[in-house]
Amino acid sequence: MKIKDIYNYLVELGIEKDPRGSEEVKASLVREKKKFDELKAEEQLEFDRERLTNPYADTRILCGDPEQEVESMLVGIDIEVGEIILADRLGEKGKPVDLILAHHPEGKALADLHYVMHLQEDILARFGVPINVAEGLMSSRISEVKRGLMPVNHNRAIDAAKLLGLAMACSHTVADNQVNTYLQELIERETPRTVGDILKLLKAIPEYAEATKYSAGPDVVLGSKDNRVGKVLVDMTGGTSGSEKSYAKLSQAGVGTIVGMHMSDKHREEAEKNHLNVVIAGHIASDSLGMNMLLDGIEKRGVEIIPCSGFIRHKRG
Ligand SMILES: [Zn+2]
Repeated sequence: MKIKDIYNYLVELGIEKDPRGSEEVKASLVREKKKFDELKAEEQLEFDRERLTNPYADTRILCGDPEQEVESMLVGIDIEVGEIILADRLGEKGKPVDLILAHHPEGKALADLHYVMHLQEDILARFGVPINVAEGLMSSRISEVKRGLMPVNHNRAIDAAKLLGLAMACSHTVADNQVNTYLQELIERETPRTVGDILKLLKAIPEYAEATKYSAGPDVVLGSKDNRVGKVLVDMTGGTSGSEKSYAKLSQAGVGTIVGMHMSDKHREEAEKNHLNVVIAGHIASDSLGMNMLLDGIEKRGVEIIPCSGFIRHKRG
């Protein structure tokens, strides 16, 4: 596969498992094109044209020639300068790396992470929060995240990759969509009665079983294992944590349990006030599960996957 084929495949699978539904995502691309057409010529020059075909600002080819063939790919959850040097060292030792794929975004994909957060408005609406309330809650949180990312040194790792002549890409929300939809469907199908039953379901998944060995597996951070679950919301996609104020609205809308990757104390406090149970499945294990669901199809097309940086590789049939 060429780098551009891998990139297009990642975006395609991201749309397929998007919690908004692929029709709604495609409609959003049409609206984006209309917005682009209405821009002035100088504004169009600044506009990132990838946005017309890729609805995920945090998934991008970051450097390298899109036409380059890829036989082997170094894949990690976080790719920093250390992993770039590692790719170069592997090449020197006779194991060349044609593409470095990060899960967490870098460069422009990190600076623009806030764009994908609008996806969370639709998830909130699907669980019974009126769309105007969902948009209101997300709006200030999205600008907070945008401002928080402004001072970051976004291009550090990419600059290292360029100096060493290595290609780099990242696939964030496209992977998180996989794990989110997979777990939401699993829980709806298996109808766990208690929070403890959710833990059992998660621990039967290889990535979580492996993470449990490193003390980084699923755990209950709010509520108890004997608590009844009520309606369960899997909250694992849409860039980063949403607004803590959404828990009051979700609780009123009938949600009883949140299953997430991670949760800040500020968020946990609001969840507690609203009597929600919270299961934290584990950050790196959840990221790994999402990445694995993307990579199986790429490996089948002849690309060797070299896992690094915490990535727990597990193949599915
Ligand atoms: Zn993550």
